[in-house]
Amino acid sequence: MLLENKTILIVGIASNRSIAYGIADSMHKHGANLVLTYQNEKLQPRVVKAAESFNTDHVLECDLSSDQSLAKLANYLKEQSIQLDGIVHAAAYAPGEMLEGSFVDNTSREGFALAHDISSYSFTALVRACREHLNAEASLLTLSYIGAVKAIRNYNVMGVAKASLEATVRYMASDLGESSIRVNAISAGPIRTLAASGIKDFKTMLDENAKITPLKRNTTINEVGDTATFLASSMASGITGSVIYVDSGYHIT
Ligand code: NAD
Repeated sequence: MLLENKTILIVGIASNRSIAYGIADSMHKHGANLVLTYQNEKLQPRVVKAAESFNTDHVLECDLSSDQSLAKLANYLKEQSIQLDGIVHAAAYAPGEMLEGSFVDNTSREGFALAHDISSYSFTALVRACREHLNAEASLLTLSYIGAVKAIRNYNVMGVAKASLEATVRYMASDLGESSIRVNAISAGPIRTLAASGIKDFKTMLDENAKITPLKRNTTINEVGDTATFLASSMASGITGSVIYVDSGYHIT
């Protein structure tokens, strides 16, 4: 049990296929108390159901695009006297029409701004909102993809937003390190989730990936979850500012 007596906020469950769900599952198995958020009313029932399986009553709405919603989250933590030992940010969005075809032709100013707001800036906004409620030695984690560092077909503007997110990890780690707060990203291999289904030809990407990776298979949400548990635990006390690949080794190919 790596996370006994630790409280972790997890943002980004949309279904039981979500990477955030795999992380919540692993952290729960390792003894963590969880606080879960959902983006909007439509997703509420699924996250409430997840909360039941993870034995927590702390479930609330949080729309990362709204400072008001982030302030409500902070207020909830205050009211409930919740101090966090970790935050997991597993959320991203880009308009579907930008996740296919020509990067140059399909990237609008508005879509670029939106993708960066939700997929990158929101990590900083979330951490700032929760800053007062972070325990010493808290671990902050976000999710990236290799499209941040290589041009991956159809990933387009999301790759640029992930590059910004990975840079955010480094600046945040540098900023918060003197408070012993650690900040890292997991760069996960492709996994079939709601967000991934917005990328054109995702199924082909999955099939090709499974053939190319050193492990000759795709990554699971459980594998990402277990790495997240390790990073949130004191076992990872020397790791900050890093992007850890959990991708069956694809990044070396
Ligand atoms: P998912 O669809 O299950 O989760 C995406 C989450 O983002 C959803 O819960 C959604 O509600 C949330 N979200 C979007 N906009 C939001 C907003 N305004 N406010 C609050 N929440 C918002 O998909 P996933 O694949 O589990 O995605 C989780 C993270 O993992 C994302 O950052 C994604 O880019 C990253 N990732 C995914 C893959 C993959 O292949 N699935 C690979 C590498 C990284």
